[in-house]
Amino acid sequence: MSEVLYRANRLSKGYGPSTAIIPALIDVSFTIRPGAFTAITGPSGSGKSTLLNLMGFLDKEFGGSLSFCGHDLDTLTSTELAKLRNLEIGFVFQSFQLLSRSSARENVELPLLYSGTSSKDRRDRADEALRKVGLDHRATHMPSQLSGGEQQRVAIARAIVNNPKVILADEPTGSLDSVTGDEILRLLGDLNEQGTTLIIVTHSDDVAGRANERIVLKDGYLNKEGL
Ligand code: ADP
Ligand code: MG
Repeated sequence: MSEVLYRANRLSKGYGPSTAIIPALIDVSFTIRPGAFTAITGPSGSGKSTLLNLMGFLDKEFGGSLSFCGHDLDTLTSTELAKLRNLEIGFVFQSFQLLSRSSARENVELPLLYSGTSSKDRRDRADEALRKVGLDHRATHMPSQLSGGEQQRVAIARAIVNNPKVILADEPTGSLDSVTGDEILRLLGDLNEQGTTLIIVTHSDDVAGRANERIVLKDGYLNKEGL
């Protein structure tokens, strides 16, 4: 693996028609090494989710350059980006984003549907991921039968089922009470200690304090004074 996982050079992103682009990210440069625990902080509207979306290859339209494992994202096709995303990146969102009509296990199996895994392997790997988040006994439960913390655990199991290099989490504790949120952070921290790069968008100074690197944004700019 290359020494640098992400390298952003003067990364910029605007929204809207070309005649009236609203800048959301302006000339942001940084590197993230493999295995890091990085917190992205800043006020609401400062560009945190925009940056995370770019790092998850969810948006190909941006200025400057961004590379992942030495691949310049500009040189990859949408199909190549989708494949890389599916294999190497796990997403965790504030709102869990589970399929409500699918069981915990079926939700966790989802990323494996795209990689041609047999149904038995899918089931085994989903159950293994559910075991890692302490929810193997809830495999057949539907999201509505699970607490918020349990739903977020299922989302984390879904994020790790492909053994990704990176977990990108956008305010993962934002919908949880503080005790449950702490449990989720501990779980994410454990995954980081086992080698997965962890990048968390957060409003919480407490969460940011646990990270070993910080990217602080203000009005779309990197706020170096905020470090
Ligand atoms: P944060 O996650 O820090 O709250 P965002 O990255 O969501 O910030 O947003 C940064 C800026 O870009 C804000 O001004 C927001 O209104 C704008 N923005 C975000 N997404 C869109 C979009 N899809 N279309 C237009 N403007 C957007
Ligand atoms: Mg956001």
